[in-house]
Amino acid sequence: MKITNWHVHTPDQRFHVFLEIETDNGLTGWGAGYSYGGQLAGALEWLKRFVMNENPLEFERITEKLHQTTFWLGRGGAMTHAISAVNIALWDLAGKALGVPVSVLLGGRYHEAVPAYGSVLFVPVETLAGRIHTMRERGFRSIKLGWDPFGRQSLAEDEKLIRLARHAAGDETNLMIDAGGSYPFWPLRYKDALERAQMLANYGVYWFEEALAPDDIEGYQRLADASPVKISHGEVLTRRQSFLPYFQRRAMDIVQPDATKVGGLSEMRRIAWMAAEYGIDVVPHGWNTAVGVASDIHFVASLASRSFVEFNVGNPLVEQITGTPFRLDEHGCLPVPAVPGLGIEIDRERLRHLADTGFASETWTWDENKEFEA
Ligand SMILES: [Mg+2]
Repeated sequence: MKITNWHVHTPDQRFHVFLEIETDNGLTGWGAGYSYGGQLAGALEWLKRFVMNENPLEFERITEKLHQTTFWLGRGGAMTHAISAVNIALWDLAGKALGVPVSVLLGGRYHEAVPAYGSVLFVPVETLAGRIHTMRERGFRSIKLGWDPFGRQSLAEDEKLIRLARHAAGDETNLMIDAGGSYPFWPLRYKDALERAQMLANYGVYWFEEALAPDDIEGYQRLADASPVKISHGEVLTRRQSFLPYFQRRAMDIVQPDATKVGGLSEMRRIAWMAAEYGIDVVPHGWNTAVGVASDIHFVASLASRSFVEFNVGNPLVEQITGTPFRLDEHGCLPVPAVPGLGIEIDRERLRHLADTGFASETWTWDENKEFEA
């Protein structure tokens, strides 16, 4: 089996590129990478020469070759995001060629269904309670709320927002809060973050995400040590090597690598194995696409530790581009596909349609009364 060609799909004007890899025996594998489409298309053009004519069953060697041949061009960022797209597609192809689901290829599945959490922004705050109710009705047992205005206002105003959220979610819902500290010129410092962590503990919040700027390793170390609530972050880090200093310093309780950024499932697996040795849980960051969600379902199924799949509710790139939509079971879990590969079919027509209508992921916010129309 040989890789003969690939096609790059750019349905989104901002981020998220889809990669479809073809082989000489008629198989097709799907991958996706985070980053601006132009950046990723350029990076993929460079990488293509190292992938053509390769056998996708040798996915680890091919991927490591890509990392090793891009030391001068990337070592992280968009180049690594592009490698992620290639790597995920190779896992999909290898699973299909061997007739096994990716979760089995990862070494084995601990779960037949994995807990999912509904992930949305706080804004528009006027519709927040309604959206939480809708997610609960849809079967989500865990819900994460993020970004503006949390952390950009006083502690008292932040507490008001959390009171509203907890009231709407009820006591039974597992609630997570994401401050979004990878926002430019992030204002919260260690003591601001600790005050908020203590406040969140009073509302039974399960984890507090990105409370500090991504590079504040010292702050994160102190915060993880002092916070009564679990501290999570890592969604902007790329390459396994970037994670190691955070693990060695126990600068988080939960690490959140993104399969479409860090280098794909190969890198996710290595990060998870390292994290386990330091007693750190892994919950993939999944504010991306259906390919990312499918990868995360298999990845989480292969973890023995407690984890979740992030499900970006209402995102057309998650909810509207697969042949069969993702469906929660009665326990708020997503079933792990038993078919070979990732177990998703991507609707090419739908990707083209989103591209033609100028879909831009950053401009949409989910409102129960106003869905993105394409
Ligand atoms: Mg986040």
